[in-house]
Amino acid sequence: MPQHTLPRPICGHCDGFPTVAITTGQTTPDGHRHTITADCPACHGTGHITPARAYARTGR
Ligand SMILES: [Zn+2]
Repeated sequence: MPQHTLPRPICGHCDGFPTVAITTGQTTPDGHRHTITADCPACHGTGHITPARAYARTGR
């Protein structure tokens, strides 16, 4: 299989699950559980780490 993009390493901080939903224990007026989402601070919600130095070397 041709591979056009290099596989980016999974973020070790969140193990590839960058966004998590946290249940606050409260319900909204609609009756749904109120949740808040939090993005991984290490990869900013992408789930991958970006090798910035490699980009600079290849000049892409
Ligand atoms: Zn992450």
